[in-house]
Amino acid sequence: MHGPLILLYNSIRKKKMYTIRKQFKFEASHQLMDHDGKCARLHGHSWVMWVEVRGDSLFTDGPKRNMLMDYADLKIAVKPLVSEFLDHHHLNDTLSVDMPTSEYIAEWAYDKLFAIGVPIFAIEIEETCTSMCRFEPESSDPGIAFVEHGGTLEQFNNEMEKMRQMYRQTKGSE
Ligand SMILES: [Zn+2]
Repeated sequence: MHGPLILLYNSIRKKKMYTIRKQFKFEASHQLMDHDGKCARLHGHSWVMWVEVRGDSLFTDGPKRNMLMDYADLKIAVKPLVSEFLDHHHLNDTLSVDMPTSEYIAEWAYDKLFAIGVPIFAIEIEETCTSMCRFEPESSDPGIAFVEHGGTLEQFNNEMEKMRQMYRQTKGSE
């Protein structure tokens, strides 16, 4: 490789990106009303949801220094969603949809978390041991994704700052 190519390579290689994931589990029933197979029958799963947060900068001061996001804060943000809509619920009812597939649940959870300012990157839903769906926006940057959802970058930065302040004041558990 020659000069400019090496420069380009180094700038790409050194671009920082951090990803954290936390797992949430819930038991829930669903029924895919229009399915042409067994999923048309009312049944349940032990679901696993992976919530993934990504960002290129860490907290620079305070008790969360060198963290992208405190796992405890992620739990604080996600838990109400799980208890209110998912765990021991019938998903057709709580999500108001007649085809609550893994794909639908993943996108629903993504939108819900995004709306409350979690810098969410992706959601994975494991419906069974062997079946999993991953939902993520086309863009790899939560800020750009926010703009694609109709916001402005300034609003995104404000939301992030508000969230960080809120989480600084919150004493998380676990
Ligand atoms: Zn199912």
